[in-house]
Order: sequence, then C-alpha cells, then structure tokens
Amino acid sequence: MGPKIAEKLQRLGVTDVHSLLLHLPYRYEDRTRITPIHQIRAGQKYLIEAEIELANVVFGKKRMLVVRVADRTGVLNLRFFHFNDAQKRMLKRGLILRCFGEARFSFGQHIEMIHPEYTVINPDHPPALARCLTPVYPVTEGLHQLKLRKLIEQALGLMRQNPQRLLDPIPKPLQEEFALTGLHEAIQFVHQPPATVSTESLAQSRSQFIKRLAFDELLAHHLGLRRIKYKLHAQAAPVMPDAKSLFLTFSKQLPFELTRAQQTVIEHIQTDLQSGAPMMRLLQGDVGSGKTLVAAFAALQAIASGYQAALMVPTELLAEQHYQSFCTWFEPLGLSTELLSGKLGASRRRETLARLQSNACHMVVGTHALFQQDVEFAKLGLVIVDEQHRFGVHQRLALKEKGAYGGAQVHQLIMTATPIPRTLAMTAYADLDVSVIDELPAGRLAINTVAISQDRRTEVIDRVHAVCQQSQQAYWVCTLIEESESLQCQAAEDTAQLLEKALSDLRIGLVHGRMKPQEKEKTMQAFKTGHIDLLVATTVIEVGVDVPNASLIIIENAERLGLAQLHQLRGRVGRGNLQSHCVLLYQAPLNEVATERLKVMRESNDGFFIAQKDLELRGPGEVLGTRQTGSLFFRVADLSRDQDLLPLVQACATQLFEQWPQTVETIVQTWIQQQESYAGV
Ligand code: ADP
Ligand code: MG
Repeated sequence: MGPKIAEKLQRLGVTDVHSLLLHLPYRYEDRTRITPIHQIRAGQKYLIEAEIELANVVFGKKRMLVVRVADRTGVLNLRFFHFNDAQKRMLKRGLILRCFGEARFSFGQHIEMIHPEYTVINPDHPPALARCLTPVYPVTEGLHQLKLRKLIEQALGLMRQNPQRLLDPIPKPLQEEFALTGLHEAIQFVHQPPATVSTESLAQSRSQFIKRLAFDELLAHHLGLRRIKYKLHAQAAPVMPDAKSLFLTFSKQLPFELTRAQQTVIEHIQTDLQSGAPMMRLLQGDVGSGKTLVAAFAALQAIASGYQAALMVPTELLAEQHYQSFCTWFEPLGLSTELLSGKLGASRRRETLARLQSNACHMVVGTHALFQQDVEFAKLGLVIVDEQHRFGVHQRLALKEKGAYGGAQVHQLIMTATPIPRTLAMTAYADLDVSVIDELPAGRLAINTVAISQDRRTEVIDRVHAVCQQSQQAYWVCTLIEESESLQCQAAEDTAQLLEKALSDLRIGLVHGRMKPQEKEKTMQAFKTGHIDLLVATTVIEVGVDVPNASLIIIENAERLGLAQLHQLRGRVGRGNLQSHCVLLYQAPLNEVATERLKVMRESNDGFFIAQKDLELRGPGEVLGTRQTGSLFFRVADLSRDQDLLPLVQACATQLFEQWPQTVETIVQTWIQQQESYAGV
C-alpha cells in the first residue's frame, strides 16, 4: 500500500500486518443469505433480491425517490432522500436489485428500507453471496469500510499462506493449561465468522475465539503493568527503619485504639519503607475507615528517618482539614507541619516554599499545588496521595518526577475511598501493591438511608429541624449533574436562603466552590466546632470532610448521581457513634436504572458491594472514573463480561515472567502501542 493509506491506518493504530489483523470489527452484517420479503421485520438488517415494479419521485416536505420492489413473497418500498437524476433514470421497472439495509416502520404501518445499499444484478448470472458474515470496522476519514475490508482480507490471506509469520506468543503448555483456542483460528473467526453463527449471538455471547483474544489483550495490559512494577522495585529508595518508640508515643496520644485492619496495613507500610525499594502501595478503605491515621503513621516513619513526608489531597477544603489534623497530632511530638494550597498569597507562599527547602519542615499537606515547578523539598522521602481517584494520571506522573532524589525514588502511598472490585483492581492497578482496610472503627452504626420524592420536601425540612434540636448536625447537599460550577453554587445559595426562612431558629452555614478560601475555611471550622447546625453545600464536601457530630445528610437530585458519588457523599455522616441518616431526594418519576441505584443505596452501606453493583449497572469505565480509564481502553476485552478471565490472566502472567520472560515483550508489543506512556511512567 502507498504512504497515504499507511498514514491513515496509523491513525487507527495499525502499523504492520499484525496490528492490521488485530484491528477488529465492532459489529457484523449478515449478507450470506437472501431473505424473502414477507419474513422481514422492522429493526433488523436484511439482504433482499427483488424486481422493481415502480419508481416514483414523490413530493412531501422533501423530494424523495420511492422504489417499489417485489419478490415472490411480497412487496416492499425502498425510500431515498438523496438521489440524482442518473439514479432516477436507471431504476426502471423490471430490473432486479439486490439490496442491503435496515427495515423500518415509516410513514404509517408499512415496513420500508430507507437508503439501502443496492446493486443491479443479472438474474442469469447472479454474483455469489458472501460466504461469511461481513465485518464492520472502525474507520477513519479517507479510509472507508470497503477498502479496509479488502486490506484485512489480504492480511488474512498472508496469515493463512505463511502461518509462521504470526507466531502464537503464548507457549503451548500455557495454551493448554488455560484452555486457549489457537491465535490464528481466533483471528480468522473474528474477521470472517461463518454464516452459521448469527450476528446476535456474536454480539451477546463470548465464543472461545473472542475469549482467546480478550485473554491476550488483558494479559498484555497486565504484563505491561507488572513489568513497570518490577522495574520500579529494582530501583533504590530510602531505607526507613521502623520507628517503634515514636509510634508508641503517638498511639498513646490517640483517644481510641487502632482497628485490626489499620494495624495490618500499617505493618505492610512499615515493611515497604524498610525494604530499600520504592513503596508503591494502594490503600483502599471504605469512607470513614480511618485512612488518614494510617497516612500519619507512614509519615512518622519517614520523618523518624530524617525525611520529609508530603500529603496531596484533591480539594482546598480537605487540605485545610488534614492540615489541622496533622498539626494536632504532630505538634505534641515536636514535629512541624506546613500547608501549601493554591490559594496562598504570594508572600506566604514564598515563606512556605522556603520552609519546605529547609529541614525544619517535617510534614506538608497540600493540593496539587505541592507539585508545581517551583516547589522544592529539602529531603522528600514519602508522598501520600489521598482520594487518588480524583487525580489524573498526569499528577501521578509529576509526583514521580519530584520524587527522584540523588538517584533514589520516593515511596508512594496512594489512598482511595472508592472501593474497586478486587478483580478490577488487579487489572487497573497491577503496578501497585494493594492493601485494604476492611473494617470500620468499633461502635459505628450503619447509616439508615431512605429515598424521598422532592414533593415531600417539607417533611424533610422538619426532620432536619428535629435532628438539629438534639444538638446534632446536618448537611444539605445541592447537586447538579451539569458540571457547571456556577449553577451549582447558585442552587446552593438559593437553597440556603429558603432553608434559612423555613428554619429560622437554626444556625445555617453555606460552602461552595465560588467562595473565598478564607470564608470557606471559616464556615467549615464553625461547622466542625459545632457553631453551625446545618451546612448547605455543593459537592465540594464530597470527599474527605470529617465532622463526626453530623448525623443527617440530605442529597438533592440523588437520582442523577452515580453510586460511587452517592456513597462518598453519604460517607460524610456515620463517622462517629451516632445513629446517622441519609435522605436521597429525587425527582419522580424514576427510570429503571435510577430506581435500581437508589435501591442499592438503601440496602447497602458496603462500599465494595456498591462498587460491584456500579460495575454491573454502568460498566468499568464509570467505576474507575474516566480520568483513569484513559489507560484502560480495550479492543476486545470487556471488564464486566470478562471478569472471570482476570484471575487466569494473573496466573498466566506469573508463569510467563518465571519461565518464558522473553515472550513478555512480544505480547505487550502486540496489543499495546506506546505502552510506556499509557502506564504513566
Ligand atoms: P477516611 O478513611 O474516610 O479518610 P478518616 O481518616 O477521615 O476516614 O477517619 C474517619 C473518622 O474516624 C475520623 O474522625 C477519625 O479520627 C476516626 N478514626 C480513625 N481511626 C479510628 C479508630 N481506630 N477508632 C475510632 N475512630 C477512628
Ligand atoms: Mg479520607
């Protein structure tokens, strides 16, 4: 092929015969048989062969060409909105057409074909029918379906003629162990499925051939991530001996005991930090499970060894809150904590930066402002990322760069409250070690969740009143699905005004993204110290905010939010020992998915269960968050459908690394272009 075509193929990720063979159809059309007209049903595509009875230009709102055709079983209209004179003249009574198109109900009760593809045929020498289903490929501008089909047919020909050119990279013993169909057969099948399988069954079920390709693709991703992990582990990182006495002093100062799960995770981290290889640990724990404290222990170990620790959080509000917590915890230990947010004034920022460069600062909390160009650390040894799902891959990247000091990597602890089903985590985070806090602090009561229609708002307002009368506190969260922050803020302001009128004896505060940072902090602080009863807020309070005396949360427009977000928001209550409640306000009528979602929320408080449901209801892209799935685009594999393959993929990968390390590269290369960049290294 010429350079023009090659360039267009490149846009589709096709660079050679192998990648062309792995450019897979996204659907199929059945042109293997001719359907008699009387069998045609609306909504499906058919190949028909029929004789023209009549061709007329009709004038409605638009000029159209209507061609009536008939076979021995029935009559059908073909309708064309776009046509030229030559077409009109050519489509004469008596000609035999072979048409392919979708049958639809239109203009009354009749089934028609709108704009079918057609060819005039000679009934004495009809062209052969397709022998297999016709693949439909993703195309790109200037490279149309027919051309692409031809090229791929050629590539398949090459593969059949010379099978040695495309070796199956998975060694025979592993193919057998994991019951994998041969690669060539799988490729042949997906491009040219035999006429005996129906297009529906291809779309709905997973054949052994699709399974083989999905397996390979998942394997390639998994191997890619694991390879990154091994590379990283081979590098040096600061050795941080355990800090037993500091840990003990700190523990004594806490008003509660660590949970068993917290202890276990702290032990994992202790071991990592001592190992001399960079820690890359993902800490998953449901909302309210006490991750911040785990972060504090990790930081103490780094600080005890003479290093600085940094904690990065996604919002200013959370930075402020964590800063307060760390000050309270660390000051009695004689350690200094700094806050670096994006909204510091220039001179304060300069002062803070100067302190980070001196060894006098032990701990720093901040937003992504922490990792801007001009920020330098005296001796950074540990980076902790809280609410990791809120950050993009880029920030993780920037972090790593900041982390290399004198040839050594920093340790990283990545925390997330968005529980990811285990199998999915294995795939998305195969480059990380994973620890889970699977237990809430003792004494926590399950949050009681109800869904209530907007019409019953007054009752809900009464309820807020009753709760606050008992010197407990409440959140009222105004959400809008549109990402427009200003609309959301406006809604919160309006709601606050209404509630102030309705609940004039309560102290009501308001926080939203458009307020000055000082104002926000003041209000949050007042809420925390109990000087505000009801906090009206936008989703700025979604992550991390911790006020244990708050026992009621009202979430507006709940039917429009995803499960993960609802769970996060709900996690603002139930953080102390009070019986907490969550009211999901919705606008009736609810559609099926929304009903199901609200039901899940009412029935469960378990983040892992909710995540699994989310996966079923919305698919993995939504569960992981689009920001993270940039790296998880699969051609064949489907993380919901193919979950059963994930443990097998993991086992297969382990054997490959151990016994056939030379094939790892081939498999990764085959499926993943630019694999270095996709993994964020
Ligand atoms: P998250 O995991 O959602 O970040 P936090 O770290 O904010 O949770 O902790 C939630 C609340 O639980 C905080 O008020 C914290 O002080 C408290 N907490 C943490 N660990 C324990 C524990 N072991 N026992 C009792 N309360 C705890
Ligand atoms: Mg938190």
